[in-house]
Amino acid sequence: MMRLHFFGVCIVILGVSLTQAQDWDARGQIQSRDTQIERRNGNVIEGTELVHYEYRVFTKLVPTDDLKSKYHISHDNVCQGKKHKAHEECDLSCDKKDTKVKKVTVRGQAESLSGAMRQMEQESAKLARKLGMPGGPNNWSSETSSYIHQMKRDCESKSIELTSLPHENPCTLVTEYFGCKKTEIHVKGEFWKVGVYRSHGVNTPINEKIAEHEGTVVNLWYPFDKAVGSATTVTCRCKERPKDKPTVSDKPVLSLGSTLKKGDPPGPTLGGLEFYVEESGLGCLPSPEQILMQCSGQSLTKCELSITNKTSDDLICRLPLGAEIVPEDSGTQVMTCTEPLELICKSSWSWDIVAGFLPSTPSFETATIRVACTELHKKEPSAKTKFTIVPPQDPLLVAILEQPAQSSFFANAIVQGRVWIYRDQASLAEINKRMVPGLTEGMYLNALLGLNQAGVDLSDRKFAKCVDANLLKSSGSSEEATAWFVAYLAEQSPNDLLAVGKYLVQSFAVKEAVDVRHLAHVADVCLRSVDPNVLNLGVSLLEKAIPAELAPEFQKSGGINALRLALALNDKELVKRAFAVGKSWESPEAKELLNNAEFFGAAQG
Ligand SMILES: [Zn+2]
Ligand SMILES: [Zn+2]
Ligand SMILES: [Zn+2]
Repeated sequence: MMRLHFFGVCIVILGVSLTQAQDWDARGQIQSRDTQIERRNGNVIEGTELVHYEYRVFTKLVPTDDLKSKYHISHDNVCQGKKHKAHEECDLSCDKKDTKVKKVTVRGQAESLSGAMRQMEQESAKLARKLGMPGGPNNWSSETSSYIHQMKRDCESKSIELTSLPHENPCTLVTEYFGCKKTEIHVKGEFWKVGVYRSHGVNTPINEKIAEHEGTVVNLWYPFDKAVGSATTVTCRCKERPKDKPTVSDKPVLSLGSTLKKGDPPGPTLGGLEFYVEESGLGCLPSPEQILMQCSGQSLTKCELSITNKTSDDLICRLPLGAEIVPEDSGTQVMTCTEPLELICKSSWSWDIVAGFLPSTPSFETATIRVACTELHKKEPSAKTKFTIVPPQDPLLVAILEQPAQSSFFANAIVQGRVWIYRDQASLAEINKRMVPGLTEGMYLNALLGLNQAGVDLSDRKFAKCVDANLLKSSGSSEEATAWFVAYLAEQSPNDLLAVGKYLVQSFAVKEAVDVRHLAHVADVCLRSVDPNVLNLGVSLLEKAIPAELAPEFQKSGGINALRLALALNDKELVKRAFAVGKSWESPEAKELLNNAEFFGAAQG
């Protein structure tokens, strides 16, 4: 007798207490030169303001209750069935218990909201213009920048190892979610007018706030020390009666919580696949003898899956991201599914008005699974390789596969690169030995960013040959990847960064192709560093890396922003050099920046 047993799922999001925001902390200020403003009544001068402007910067840490799930770990006590009369009687004796203790390391992640930052910079310039200042402060105080830098670094250095223990619930799948909790950094800028108003020989002090603006510039995702949520699913097979005669499947009987639907947390699997009844969209778990499955190799990036559905319902079969596809032969690479796959499998039964359900000619559905190889040094699978499929085994690998690819055209190659870097610490050369056409330096860098965002600790010594500073020499990486990598190197191996910087500075001189956008990004990130040598490199890039004829394009591609940062540095010598660069550019944008910087005293002394 065939029966589809439906399961209930229950999702719990752990309650978290409301958290209190701090007060604003002063983070220094930028002061303009003294200036005189005449107050007139018609043509008569009533008095004069002898004032300067101050741009005062404040920050505040604002904890939130926002949780982000990054990893999930499942323990499935799989019911072997046909032992108890009803699930209420089940103990673990009918199950194959999952007894593994599973661990995951959750790392902190800092997320710069660069759009919001840029907007704040623009706002302050606009406010300043409205207030009659010749422009606005070029940047927040350097105290603010180093505070933000420090907080990001501190957050990213946090990690917690969490353990998911086996559970004692019979016939039940429990999935626990682990991740991070968000704290925001808010920045506030206040414009103050400070000085005296002199009128008819009388001085009246002026100390007034004339404008302010505020924004969230960084999200700090700190690792959360408990599960951020969990889902429970009961999948009992004990009520099943002996097979052979089919019946219409029962309507879903949900014993626990709400209903599991496609897109819900991972449900129980049979042969690594999740099943849903097509008509209702509800989850179900066929018995092993109801589903015939075959998986064989096709190429380095594809496997072929064929399924025969011997239940009486049309089913949607779903292969989750990160499911592992394990070859029979242990000398061949284990593959992992890089794109969730959905396949509709029609029932092999047809309805006869007299006889009821009858077996029709068993048919099978086939589909192509997109895969990545996980073991660089083992044999490639061939069309003859037979596989079995198991549910995702490594939460970190799933998180890596979930990271968006920066380029859609080469998405598969980048995903494959990520997996090999993560599993085998593969260098670019090693990857390109196995993959045609292979990755460029820029694509490899994009792949590294994906690993970092998934929570892989790339500063672990085993990745030393992967985080190679020379990757910066060529363009083609995303803006985000370049920014992350320069900051990473400035932190972890500043000498390597300086050596590559030297190469970039000279690349024009040695007639290498110059990618102005790439250089502008590198300069921009260097100028946000706290390391004096890296700051020096940033200014050198502005000075020397760009031939005069490319200067206008360079300015448009981010060079102006980089100059803005250089002019706001604390080091007088560097600021002087930045001034010289700005003058040589001879553009209105550069001129305005220099005027503002002068007004706010950047080049004094
Ligand atoms: Zn059971
Ligand atoms: Zn049971
Ligand atoms: Zn049982």
